[in-house]
Amino acid sequence: MLIDDLIKLLQEKKFEQEKIDLIKRVYYFAEKAHEGKKRLTGEDYIKHPLATAYKLAQMNFDSATIASGLLHDVPEDTETSLEAVKKEFGSEIATLVEGITKLGKIKYRGVERYINSLKKMFVATAKDIRVILIKLADRIDNLKTLHVHAPVKQQRIARETLEIYAPIAHRLGMGGLKGELEDLSFPYVYPEEYKWVKKISSERYKEKQKTIDKVKKLLKTKLDKDNIPYIHIESRSKHYYSLYKKLLRKDMALEKIYDLIALRIITKDTPACYQVLGAVHDLWPPMKGRIKDYIAQPKPNNYRSLHTTVYTDGQNIIELQIRSEEMHEEAEYGISAHWHYKKDIRSHIPFKDKQVKWVKELTKWQKEFKDTEEYIEALKLDIFQTRIFVFTPKGDVIDLPGDATPIDFAYHIHSEVGDRCTGAKVNEKIISLESQLKSGDMVEIMTDKNRKSPNEEWLNIVKTNLAKNKIKQSLKKTNSKGLFNLLNPKNWDR
Ligand code: MN
Repeated sequence: MLIDDLIKLLQEKKFEQEKIDLIKRVYYFAEKAHEGKKRLTGEDYIKHPLATAYKLAQMNFDSATIASGLLHDVPEDTETSLEAVKKEFGSEIATLVEGITKLGKIKYRGVERYINSLKKMFVATAKDIRVILIKLADRIDNLKTLHVHAPVKQQRIARETLEIYAPIAHRLGMGGLKGELEDLSFPYVYPEEYKWVKKISSERYKEKQKTIDKVKKLLKTKLDKDNIPYIHIESRSKHYYSLYKKLLRKDMALEKIYDLIALRIITKDTPACYQVLGAVHDLWPPMKGRIKDYIAQPKPNNYRSLHTTVYTDGQNIIELQIRSEEMHEEAEYGISAHWHYKKDIRSHIPFKDKQVKWVKELTKWQKEFKDTEEYIEALKLDIFQTRIFVFTPKGDVIDLPGDATPIDFAYHIHSEVGDRCTGAKVNEKIISLESQLKSGDMVEIMTDKNRKSPNEEWLNIVKTNLAKNKIKQSLKKTNSKGLFNLLNPKNWDR
């Protein structure tokens, strides 16, 4: 891929010339920064940020996001600093690049801890959701070139994708991206299962092709006859990994999976969806309990469609998914659908409001939601929303309540760090010990070795019970020591 391909895509997406010129400038800046560096594939390094940016453009993102995709590895991997990026391209792009750089700094310390750190950071950086989306596009390209890496690295990247990145794409309603992330990772994590699923699903597809063609034809005739408008009908086979997960839940019984191949009917608007559903049920009897109205009651990730499973002739069962063009775009692209067309979204979507809405939807859906696994995954992420996540200078993530102070942070690292704390720096600037920390802050505690006990005042400042208890313990210790010293005749004044 070349820069010209990206430019062509931007022109197709009707970007203003000014924005296209910016992207060009950014490209040459990044190319120069990475000059002489090669990827393991042997290509010039710039191919990777270029692929990332191209993906972001395909996903309908704005120029700042695409530019940041081009620059995402610059501060970390080259001599060119973040300040230089800021000077050249301004603070919006620099802030995005900084966010991605921070995400990359999270250290790998065992799977559990790593996953938790990532989950937290994802939510923390979600104050500008675009950071996460750049990371997802970055990951797609990394997966596509994963074959050149050592098996250990392949495993780690692929697993991490299945456990973190794909669920996040799902949460953001980006069905297309989620499927792509999963299917690129699947063969590395479960090679045998992947081969098997691929084989059985293609066999099944061949078997079903006739039925599908027949059903499609009958339905078209019916819709035309009844004057019901639709845009097109397509068949889609389930993504491999999502099929595999479903098989695990259904005792590996392929015959219990009705949506292995589904017919999708895309309409112009919502009323037409219900008309099509009526026509479908007029033709074939629906299976009990399989009519789902995700338009009236969208899934927690906002997925909307009508689903029904029908008997087309005796034993032939087929699932149909009916949705409008808009719903289809949203199901594929989720949060990024039409992003750059929306002129009023200047820098970011108010993710917090969206999260709040999500939680409400989640609660509403809790009782009805069939897919427990999916629900729990979504919920796990929401739990983190009232917490902040801050960094140690070494890149570890500390998870604190929303109003925590540097003293809370110090005691969360170690009692001694708390007891000896004399001041704090946030993002390399000195701040008062009473200040409130914010997600994404890098916090450094200044200590004095000779200081042995905390300030009693701190009890009124700290927000966490952990810090409170540790301060009390230390005060007790020093006070009793003080008393002991006083009682010891050796220390008596003569
Ligand atoms: Mn990268």
